[in-house]
Amino acid sequence: MSGRSGGSTGAEGTADAGRSAARPSGATTEPATEPADRDLPLDSHLHTRLSHDSDVPLDVYPALAVARGIAEIAITDHLDFDPRVPTSGVPPTERERLVRELAERWADRVAVRYGAEITYERRFEAEIHDHLRRHRYDFVIGSVHVGADSPYRPERVATFVAGRSLREIVAPYYDEVLAAARSGLFDTLGHLDFVKRYLVPHVPPSALAAAPELVEPILRALVESGTGLEINASGLRQAAGEPYPHPTIIARYRALGGERITVGSDAHRAHHFAAGLRSAYALVASGGWRSVHFRRGPSPVAVTIPPAILEAVAGSGAPAGSLASTATDLATGAGGRRRAGSLA
Ligand SMILES: [Zn+2]
Ligand SMILES: [Zn+2]
Repeated sequence: MSGRSGGSTGAEGTADAGRSAARPSGATTEPATEPADRDLPLDSHLHTRLSHDSDVPLDVYPALAVARGIAEIAITDHLDFDPRVPTSGVPPTERERLVRELAERWADRVAVRYGAEITYERRFEAEIHDHLRRHRYDFVIGSVHVGADSPYRPERVATFVAGRSLREIVAPYYDEVLAAARSGLFDTLGHLDFVKRYLVPHVPPSALAAAPELVEPILRALVESGTGLEINASGLRQAAGEPYPHPTIIARYRALGGERITVGSDAHRAHHFAAGLRSAYALVASGGWRSVHFRRGPSPVAVTIPPAILEAVAGSGAPAGSLASTATDLATGAGGRRRAGSLA
């Protein structure tokens, strides 16, 4: 959502870019949901017309979920506290009414939860805290985006990276992410290494993957604060060509004692519903988890990974926890998406 004021810098920029460029209706070269992305228990990151950078009608995802055997979905529209960021114009109380009514309409076919993706910035932490005290969400993602002042915006990023070390380059982003992880405000931390999207082609994602020490304090803070780590599949279809975060980061979270792993497609368009979700579940399974983390209002729940995925991962011969090797398999499977994504 960042950059929602600026088109292509949008956090989930395919939607932003599409909107600002008046994409031709129905025409897209983007890879979409694959046949394998079905019969899964949960997609916990979805945007509708209640986000400024999506125009998906509310009933579309439940209908797709029924058609594809996705048992449960969370509607997690953007919520920002920077007044410069565009909004859908629908206030939270109205959003809640609309999504709870949606859930009632579909209750006999699919479980629909009311969530939010809140943009975290340290300077708005008090406002976020106050908001969460007054609003009753089922599930809340906290994410750091690329806002109006960010050095990663396309018009600034080349100048910003010049002459700086990798640590210096990522510091403005990861400093905020670390604060988000420490805040304890959220059920899960969205797309942890999302900054890599904006650094292509100046810094390849492989350079970030080779420097896991840069995110070590963030992972420790997640474990200490009891905050989940999201595997966000949108990276598979974007310039980075790999999930957010990289599998080595997911493995390190596990090694540090992280238990709360969450998964979402981060769809902003109907054809991205559940896209890459099976790969995300496979990553979870290969990391040694047998369930994904979620919350349905009052208390956290563990959502069991389908046996077929656990068996497929076990049958691959990779030892549990060997996420890095599994990443190679995933990247191979996502090769088409990677190449197409790099054109986006
Ligand atoms: Zn986001
Ligand atoms: Zn999102």
